[in-house]
Amino acid sequence: MSDLPKDLREKLKEKFIITGLKVAKRLESSDGTKKILFRLQDANLIEAVIIPSKERVTGCVSTQVGCKFACRFCASGQGRFKRNLTFAEIIGEVLYLKKEALPGKLTHLVFMGTGEPLDNYAEVMKAVRIINSPSAFNIGARRITISTSGIIPGIQKLSGEGLQIELSVSLHAADEKLRSELMPVNKIYPLKELINTCKKYSLDTNRQVTLEYILIKGVNSELQHAQDLRKLLSGFPLAKINLIPSNAIKELNIEPPGRPEVLLFKEYLVKNGLNVTLRRERGGDIEAACGQLRLKYAEK
Ligand code: SF4
Repeated sequence: MSDLPKDLREKLKEKFIITGLKVAKRLESSDGTKKILFRLQDANLIEAVIIPSKERVTGCVSTQVGCKFACRFCASGQGRFKRNLTFAEIIGEVLYLKKEALPGKLTHLVFMGTGEPLDNYAEVMKAVRIINSPSAFNIGARRITISTSGIIPGIQKLSGEGLQIELSVSLHAADEKLRSELMPVNKIYPLKELINTCKKYSLDTNRQVTLEYILIKGVNSELQHAQDLRKLLSGFPLAKINLIPSNAIKELNIEPPGRPEVLLFKEYLVKNGLNVTLRRERGGDIEAACGQLRLKYAEK
């Protein structure tokens, strides 16, 4: 910007950098889902996804490079944690996704990519305020979802933000032992305490809390697991269970259960008065499971 005075340019150079995310790979599924692998300025890789459907266009962003929490079913948890993203990098993802969403519009934003958003609380909240601001992206708080593996202090803090953000909690098991095997974070923030915190969040914000349950063949998809789930959620009317048949991830030895088993699981919960949705798998042909693409390229 040679029209600026030289000493101002020098000062700007000292204090600021202008950067952007570089697209390292872009994949498009036959169902319209697009997955983008970004290269950051320090050469680290992160992923973001855009998921169009009839009624909405949802962007999914990462919040960390790698993840500390090592969930067994998650490709992101297998690579080691490197660093938090800054709010500017998160906004960089949103800007790119917004451009990709054209000629439609980015209507929903989910923090469900690589990383644990509540482990990078301050930067994530700065990004949320910008995404929510009418002078920036203007996406309503109810259309922004923060997905967590169950970081109790983070959920408690989020309750006090005065925003009606959608909270989505990765549950994946209704039994302490099995959940600790699948998600080591359960040893720090146990299931019972987590459910009580979720109940409080729903009361404080007057919002439903979504409990994500990935169905993995031979691990947590049998009728007995559905019964455990019903017991765990008795007395939690604002819970919504989102069942997700797992993607097949060869590297992690994970397979989805057959359709009849999935339907049996769902029907048992519905018959017992629980609020249940069954998510359709998206982007199965482009390694859409969290961290799969990054893992593949980081290994090269
Ligand atoms: S599911 Fe989330 S918290 Fe667990 S390892 Fe993957 S990115 Fe981390």
